[in-house]
Amino acid sequence: MTTYFKNIIVGLWTVLVGMRVTLKYLISKPVTVQYPDERCDLPERFRGMVKGDPDKCITCMYCVNVCPVSCIALDGVKSDLPKKVVNLEGKEIKKLKDVTKFDIDISRCIQCGFCVENCPTGAIYLSHDYENSTCSREDLVYHWAKK
Ligand code: SF4
Ligand code: SF4
Repeated sequence: MTTYFKNIIVGLWTVLVGMRVTLKYLISKPVTVQYPDERCDLPERFRGMVKGDPDKCITCMYCVNVCPVSCIALDGVKSDLPKKVVNLEGKEIKKLKDVTKFDIDISRCIQCGFCVENCPTGAIYLSHDYENSTCSREDLVYHWAKK
């Protein structure tokens, strides 16, 4: 008779031990994010899609030359009316060319950030965008130059 009750107690204890993790998560805040209705807060230095700003670009080609996968295509023509842009150090520099082509193929980009680190004006930057799925490769080439 004693063994009978002992077995019941051991059985209940075993169930409780087995359910310990389940019970812990049952009463704690859910960790699942119901994407796309909900989104995680991204860290400030998150590396998302690379974007270009032709107005700030001075066509120095640093980004093109430094990109390890050659996914940036850039071109410009001499501007009739040279403009000035402020570089990252706050100094004004001449923008002698208008950007005619500023294409970034994000299907090849590895988000290394080399282009961003070498751009003197902040004309190329890593955004927080990460939803870039498309049905064709052509749609993954972004044309930032103004038409
Ligand atoms: S992040 Fe790296 S791979 Fe992507 S465009 Fe810039 S240099 Fe190229
Ligand atoms: S490094 Fe910056 S300024 Fe120079 S070509 Fe690239 S985007 Fe333009």
